[in-house]
Amino acid sequence: MTRIAVLGSTNMDLVAYVSKAPGRGETVTGHEFRTIPGGKGANQAVAAARAGGTVSMIGAVGVDAFGSRLRAALEQSGVDTGALRTIEGPSGTAHIVVDDEGGNAIVVIPGANGTVTTLTDDDEAVIARADLLLLQLESPLEGVVSAADVARRHGVRVVLTPSPAQALPAGLLAATDLLVPNEHEAAALTGITEPYEAAEALLEQVPEVVITLGSAGSLYASRDAGKIMVPAQRVTAVDSTGAGDTFVGALSVALGEGRPMPEALAWASSAAALSVQRSGASTAMPYRIEIDELAE
Ligand code: ATP
Repeated sequence: MTRIAVLGSTNMDLVAYVSKAPGRGETVTGHEFRTIPGGKGANQAVAAARAGGTVSMIGAVGVDAFGSRLRAALEQSGVDTGALRTIEGPSGTAHIVVDDEGGNAIVVIPGANGTVTTLTDDDEAVIARADLLLLQLESPLEGVVSAADVARRHGVRVVLTPSPAQALPAGLLAATDLLVPNEHEAAALTGITEPYEAAEALLEQVPEVVITLGSAGSLYASRDAGKIMVPAQRVTAVDSTGAGDTFVGALSVALGEGRPMPEALAWASSAAALSVQRSGASTAMPYRIEIDELAE
């Protein structure tokens, strides 16, 4: 089984559904409220565990009620939370207003995630034992960079999702084996909107890149093996939230199993196609048996 360490964010998404989002100083009555476990780190961990990986989550939740729910949600999907700290103060939260047209406005408060700036000896041991380390940018860059350095020292493959898009320290890209931006993040990193050209520019900094292109699929590019365009499965999408995290989680599991890149990419596309057909992010992520059925 592929051993995966994930360092990243765990947030409770607090979602208010309204006809029209309130303007400044305005109060509106919404029609529904949901609390949904999220955070890019936790979502990638859930995706990888459901896809069949042995997954450990490194990060932090708060002592509040959300913290225990977030931990339980990870464990329910089979993620090991031994390296998920519980710290004084609130858990990370994302305050989301979704209107009837599907538009949204989001405020993220990092809470406990903001404390993950250094690694403990236990965190380092978890990374050292893994086949792959999955990183994103919703937790402090210091912690992300430290984790990448530990992985590099132990020969662990580093998969970085550069989201939310931001300027990156050169050292982080130098320690990255596989970079998986979506098309907007690829454009933000390179200043180039055309995916083939953006991939070419990114290959100057990392050996392998996958740019995800929503319903248009994904573009894989490597220094050694050229480029492959991977089509998305044709499905009726109801909610694409978390599609990218599902893709990364499944891809990492397949790569850890030693499957060739084209096969791993096709399998990850099947996983993501299943997730977009259901609403929610982590709640929509498929289990291995479903991915295998669609990928056959
Ligand atoms: P998110 O931020 O919502 O997690 P993302 O922007 O990171 O998503 P996308 O590029 O939208 O990621 O999607 C990732 C992958 O999911 C795509 O490469 C594709 O394989 C699959 N996918 C996304 N949207 C669809 C769709 N409508 N139909 C089929 N597959 C899809």
